[in-house]
Amino acid sequence: MGIMDSMKSMMMKQAAKLVSNVVRKADIDQFAKLLWTLTKLAKEPAKSGLRHLAEGADRHDPMLVNWVELFNRSNPKVVEKVINNLIINEFAVGEKVRQEKMHELKIVLPKLAIISPTYACNLRCVGCYAALYGHKYQLSKEEVFSVIRQFNDLGIYFFIITGGEPFVYPYFYDILEEFQDSYFMVYTNATMINEDSAKRLAELGNATFAISVEGDEAMTDWRRGKGIYKQVQNAWKLMRENGVIFGSSITATRKNHEMIMDDTFWDYLKESGVSYAWVFQFMPVGADATMELVPTAEQRLERFRKTEELRLGGKFSFVADFWNHGFLSHGCLAAGSKYLHINAKGYAEPCIFQQFAVDNIREKSIVEILSSPFFEAYKRTIPYSENLFRPCPIIDNPKVYRAMVKKFNAIPQHPGSERIINELAPELDQLAADWKVYADKLWYEEGYAEKWPSKRGIYNYETRMRRYENNEEKLALDKKA
Ligand code: SF4
Repeated sequence: MGIMDSMKSMMMKQAAKLVSNVVRKADIDQFAKLLWTLTKLAKEPAKSGLRHLAEGADRHDPMLVNWVELFNRSNPKVVEKVINNLIINEFAVGEKVRQEKMHELKIVLPKLAIISPTYACNLRCVGCYAALYGHKYQLSKEEVFSVIRQFNDLGIYFFIITGGEPFVYPYFYDILEEFQDSYFMVYTNATMINEDSAKRLAELGNATFAISVEGDEAMTDWRRGKGIYKQVQNAWKLMRENGVIFGSSITATRKNHEMIMDDTFWDYLKESGVSYAWVFQFMPVGADATMELVPTAEQRLERFRKTEELRLGGKFSFVADFWNHGFLSHGCLAAGSKYLHINAKGYAEPCIFQQFAVDNIREKSIVEILSSPFFEAYKRTIPYSENLFRPCPIIDNPKVYRAMVKKFNAIPQHPGSERIINELAPELDQLAADWKVYADKLWYEEGYAEKWPSKRGIYNYETRMRRYENNEEKLALDKKA
């Protein structure tokens, strides 16, 4: 880093401290004023994003009101890291670097990466592949550090850490300590969080925790094991007391559907301090993959109505239904279009749910993997359907998935991974056909097609350049900045 860059970086850090001090005590109107000031100071592409946020704060968008309340009750270090690492490094500075690198390397780059440093887990949840391995597969500390550094060099500062159970990984805290400028979202069962660790996480500040729940105590304990729900409640309490930001990760199954539809469940999460929620539909990819728990097409539609109401309602800082909100992310995120998954064997999977891979970080650099024929083929094809309510190759466009695996001889990553492309294929085809009926009604008859039009090929560099010729110019980097 040159002297100018070091000075800029120091100034940014100071600015992040100042802003976080203001934000921690601000109400929504003061927050709006702050955002307008930052908009004036910022340059594209951050400027447009900040303006959008400032307009939302002006009209008291419930989601932003929720953010302000969250900042008010969080630990100062936690707020500072959200501002510095997530907003400044990932969204503002990182986006500029990603654009520069995109032109230099001639590949569209992801915005985040998922890393599973280990497959080891202290629980044995129904349908989870991690149950198969014990401590057999794990990345070394050096491998994890090298991967994160390579992503940082590309302007990527946001990482999702999952597994296995991240807290079982012996170097979990080393990651948070070493990469103080990156922000981490950690998917955890929360059973290893105690008073000391909650304090330590608040002092580090650069991670938020998406804690798994399946519904109420009986439902959570059925899938995760007896007594687990009580441990989750205890982790919620400790994180709340220490001002650590946490959310929920909810797997929607055929069995817990009614519970997810019930406001009592969501109200309880809210009262417990949960600030965001990710909803993932159960996928038949784990040990003993079965379609029995996969929600029906009717349930998926009902769930979309519920999660959409929650997303727009502002009860939480955000709510995302991973497949049903595909229109918000322009379809599938896989293969480096928006993210990729480095698994505990070192293989780069297109997505955490696509358990087939071609390349390994032990043989190739991240840039080589991102520009590989396998990933580029995916990126050229996304979105697989113009209807963004059908974003997924696995459950919505299974023929695409099977074709990709076959064409590139992708290696199954777990015993039984192949079942999804052979034995379970007829059932998945039927599920996709059932869902298409509802998805097409939503897309074409409820205004989504007009509001969120799909653009094929934007994750391929040449196509993107052609399509956004003028727009890219607008977003071009201010070299003098
Ligand atoms: S493959 Fe499916 S689950 Fe994975 S990112 Fe794409 S749409 Fe989502």
